[in-house]
Amino acid sequence: MKNKKNQLYIIWSVVILFFLMVILSINVIPDIQEERKDKRYVYLGKDAPIPSQLNPIVEERKNILINKAANQKIDVVITEGIRTFEKQKQLYQQGRTTTGNIVTHKKAGESFHNYGLAFDYALLDSNGTIIWDIDYDGNKNGESDWFEVADMAKKLGFDWGGDWEDFKDYPHLQMTFGLNIAMLKEGYRVNDQVVRKELKKYIGFYELSPKHMLNEINRHIY
Ligand SMILES: [Zn+2]
Repeated sequence: MKNKKNQLYIIWSVVILFFLMVILSINVIPDIQEERKDKRYVYLGKDAPIPSQLNPIVEERKNILINKAANQKIDVVITEGIRTFEKQKQLYQQGRTTTGNIVTHKKAGESFHNYGLAFDYALLDSNGTIIWDIDYDGNKNGESDWFEVADMAKKLGFDWGGDWEDFKDYPHLQMTFGLNIAMLKEGYRVNDQVVRKELKKYIGFYELSPKHMLNEINRHIY
C-alpha cells in the first residue's frame, strides 16, 4: 500500500516537472532568440561611418560560393561588390537625367550594395567570356548554371534578387543580418564583434574537407 503511494507520488512529480519545463521553454526560448537577433546590429548614431568594403561574413561566404560553384564546374565572376553613394547616384541618374537605360530603382544610400552587404554575380564560359544568359548550362547537367549558383548562395544564407516579386534582379545576392535600408540610413550597422565571433567559429572548419566545412557553416546560417 505504502509502495503504491510512493510510486504515484513519483509519477506525479515527473508529470508536473515535465509541464513546468515545457512552460519555461515556451517563455524563455523566444527571448533568447530575440536577444541574439538584436546583437547582430548596433546603433552608431546619425554619423555612423559608411563601410568601405564588403562585410567580412559576406566576403567570406562570397568566396565559399565561388569555390562551391567551381566544384560543380561553374565559373562565377563577381561583377559588383560594395558601391559608393556617388556611384549609386550616377546609376540612378542613368535613364532619368542622363542617357542609357534605367538600371536601378534605388537612390544613393538605398541599396545594400552601399553598405557592403550585397554583391552581383555573372558566369564565365570556358573562353573567359562573360555570360548573362540565365539559361546557360555550361556544365551540361541539364540545369541552368545561374540558378544552381543561386541555390548554393541561398544555402549559405544569402537572399537572391531572382526571388523578388516586383523587380527580378538575377545577379544580386545580399545578406542583411536583420537590418533594413531604413535602419542603415538611420545609423544602425552590423555588429562587428558578433560577426568576428561568428568568423572565429569557422576558422577551425577550414581544416576540414570543403564538404564538411560547408555542412558546418550551413548549420550556423544567420
Ligand atoms: Zn546588386
